[in-house]
Amino acid sequence: MKFIDEYRDPELGQKLIARIHRQSTKPIKLMEFCGGHTVAIFKNGIRQLLPKTIEMLSGPGCPVCVTASSDLDKAIALSHLPNVIVTSFGDMIRVPGSSSSLQRTKAEGNDVRVVYSAQDAVHIARDNPDKSVIFIGIGFETTAPTIAASIMQAEQEEINNYYILSLHKLCPPIMKAILDMGEVRLDGIICPGHVSTIIGSQPYQFIPDDYGVASVVSGFEPLDILLTIDRLVNQIETGQPKVEIAYRRGVKPEGNPSALKLMDTVFEICKANWRGIGPVASSGLKLKDRYRLFDAESNFDIDAGSSLEPQGCICGNILRGVSTPLECGLFRTSCTPEHPVGPCMVSSEGSCATYYHYGVDYGG
Ligand code: SF4
Repeated sequence: MKFIDEYRDPELGQKLIARIHRQSTKPIKLMEFCGGHTVAIFKNGIRQLLPKTIEMLSGPGCPVCVTASSDLDKAIALSHLPNVIVTSFGDMIRVPGSSSSLQRTKAEGNDVRVVYSAQDAVHIARDNPDKSVIFIGIGFETTAPTIAASIMQAEQEEINNYYILSLHKLCPPIMKAILDMGEVRLDGIICPGHVSTIIGSQPYQFIPDDYGVASVVSGFEPLDILLTIDRLVNQIETGQPKVEIAYRRGVKPEGNPSALKLMDTVFEICKANWRGIGPVASSGLKLKDRYRLFDAESNFDIDAGSSLEPQGCICGNILRGVSTPLECGLFRTSCTPEHPVGPCMVSSEGSCATYYHYGVDYGG
C-alpha cells in the first residue's frame, strides 16, 4: 500500500536499528511528546529494539489526558443546565471528573451526545433550534482549525444556538514549560507529527536554541520513528542539536498556512490549565471577542464547584514524564480500560491504556 508498506520495510528497519546501536555511545533520555507516538512505539516493540543507552519517556501529548479536572467539571456542569445538549468526542465522556463524568450525567438523563467532528455538533444545533448545543472543544493545534471552521459555518448559516467550550491546548508552550520545570533532563524530543502538519517545524526552534535539546518531527510508522530516533541520536552524539523533519510527506517547515489562518481568525492565545502541570501562560486558545456569541463560558453560568483529582491516580506525573504507569498502585488492579480511574487509562492515546495493551509484558 502506497505510503504505508515502504515505512514498514523490515530490512530498512534492521539497518536503522543497527545504525542507532553503532551511533549511541552515552546514556540519553528521549521524550515522545505525542500519545500517538507512544502507541506506535509500544505497538511496534520499538523500545525493545533500542540500545540500553536510550531511555524513552512519554510526554503530555494526549488532549483527553491533559484536560484538567476543573475544566471537565465545567463540561459536566453545562450538561446539567436545562435545554442544553452537550456534544463531545467519544473518549472524553468516559473521563472521571471530580464527582461525575459526562457518561454518568448522560445516564442520569441529561442530553450528552458523542460526535465525530465539530461539524456534527453544528448539524445537531441546526436540527434542534430550541436547544443550546455546546461542543466540548478539546485538542491541540490539529483539531483547532476544524473547530474554527465549525464556528464560521454556524455564523454563515445563522445558527445561533451553537457554542464551544474551548479547552484547546498548544504544544510548543507546554514543551517549553516541561523543559523549564527541569524535572526530567531531556536530551531529545520526538516532536508531534499531526500537530506539525498544521504549525510546521519552525515553532520548535527554541528547543535547540534555548535548551540545547535535539528535536525531530516524526511520523507514525515504524520506519518514521526509527529514523527519528536515528536523527536524534546523531544530533546528540555530534553535539549539534537542531530541528529536523523525519516526516517530510506530512510536514513542511512553515506548516499549513490556510489552517493557521483559520485558527487565527477565530481564536486568540490564552492561559490554559493542564492536568498535572497547572496553568501555563499562552498555552491555550479562547474565542476572539468577535465570536463571543459562540463562547459557552461567556453565555452560560457555569458552577463547576471545587475540583478534585481521582484519588491515587498519578496521571499528572505521567504526563510530565516523571513517572510511568507501572509506578501507579492502581494500574491493572482497580484501574483498567473497562473501569478507568484517570484519563490516561481512558484515552486510546493515554500512556496507561498503552502500557495496559502493549507494554506490561515487556516490563514497560
Ligand atoms: Fe491514573 Fe489509572 Fe493511570 Fe493510575 S493507572 S495513573 S489511576 S489512569
